[in-house]
Amino acid sequence: MHPRADIFGNKVYTGKCILANRFRNDFRFFHTENFRNVEPLTLNPVHPHSDSGDNPVKKNLYVFAMITILAGTTLTMYGKDDQSMNDADLRTQAEQLAEELIILDSHIDAPYQLTKEYVDWTQPSDRHFDYPKAVKGGLDAPFMSIYISPKYQDGGAKMQADELIGMVQKQVNAHPDKFAIPLSPSDVRKHVTAGKMSVAMGMENGAPIEGDLANLQYFFDWGIRYITLTHAKDNHICDSSYDTTYTWDGLSPFGKKLIPAMNNIGMMIDISHVTDSTAFQVLELSKAPVVATHSGCRKFTPGFHRNMSDTLIKALAKRDGIVQINFGSYFVSDSYRQHRGDRSENIRAYLDEHGLERSDPEAKSYIEEYDQEHPLADADISDVVQHIDHVVQLVGIDHVGLGSDYDGVGSVPTGLEDVSKYPNLIYELLKEGYSESDIRKICSGNFLRVWEEVEHVANDPESG
Ligand SMILES: [Zn+2]
Repeated sequence: MHPRADIFGNKVYTGKCILANRFRNDFRFFHTENFRNVEPLTLNPVHPHSDSGDNPVKKNLYVFAMITILAGTTLTMYGKDDQSMNDADLRTQAEQLAEELIILDSHIDAPYQLTKEYVDWTQPSDRHFDYPKAVKGGLDAPFMSIYISPKYQDGGAKMQADELIGMVQKQVNAHPDKFAIPLSPSDVRKHVTAGKMSVAMGMENGAPIEGDLANLQYFFDWGIRYITLTHAKDNHICDSSYDTTYTWDGLSPFGKKLIPAMNNIGMMIDISHVTDSTAFQVLELSKAPVVATHSGCRKFTPGFHRNMSDTLIKALAKRDGIVQINFGSYFVSDSYRQHRGDRSENIRAYLDEHGLERSDPEAKSYIEEYDQEHPLADADISDVVQHIDHVVQLVGIDHVGLGSDYDGVGSVPTGLEDVSKYPNLIYELLKEGYSESDIRKICSGNFLRVWEEVEHVANDPESG
């Protein structure tokens, strides 16, 4: 379940000693065999393999470690050589951290799935997101995407947004003991403290603003806290990275008015999906830090403009913004992208050659056969870690987070199959040497910081 939270983004566990809290930023002191029998330093002594007897060797190591800590030196207890010995410990630690830290995922497309078939989120499902899986994965604050397909850009966008917001509210109202909608980072912390999942809302595609700034206030009042300026097509605000029209060469005249209005009201600006010129213009105009709620690094997917270039990541970080890494195989793995590209091309060529439509039975059986002969391997969890690593190497630990795009992407990496799998990612990060404090930032600290800065700019327009 969801333990209480403190102001540092930790869920608070009772009975944890001060000494443990003081040193727990460095995971290396807490997962090793050496501390497992030392009650005061153990995060959670319950471990399937922990022996309860006294072990003089471990105790001696403990004394040595304590001397080293007190001397202010860093002690690496975990090296590549003893990996197998410590693997189970790392797993346990990852599970504990997933429970303990606030995990915020800035983009989950569960509301859109409800438009296909409405299901109760508290019931187990075959979707990426449902409450039981989320609890298992330690997910505390999913940003539910109020996704507006570009087909509504010619009419009906606002109505579609209303409908999706209504569905999120329906879920929350049906289970007030489990869900609450946060309007601020402090709400998120309060909800987690109260043992509830903090179900935030972000709007994917600014089309429902419909050229009227009054609608910005309207959606803010309904609880929307970020707007992804556009989706797969240029809209009345800006250009899309999936479009090739370049209608505005970046922001439209209305878009240029919308950015300061978003700053003034405290609405986060999401530059996932926009073109590079749009993103740079937004960074130029915005007084508050900007977010990319579900994007990857273009370095690993050359030519895929939906992911962010190094130059853009640097510019975003310079304004204290954040990239939330998309988990989708298509976003993180170039070999997956190549295979999928080949598949589309080959199938299209066959259908054209034989004058078939996709819906024809002959086409269907050809596609089935093709997929059997050319199985498409999903990306791997290590691909996601690679994207996180790259942002960290490029701009530091303060500008990266998680924006899975669960229920919005078809293929997700092995090891990150759904919202129950965040502990796997934490495990991989621990294995890579990320400290607990780094992981806290990635899991929610960075995003909550940016959200607070956006609030601050709104409350104090002179700042930023
Ligand atoms: Zn998207």
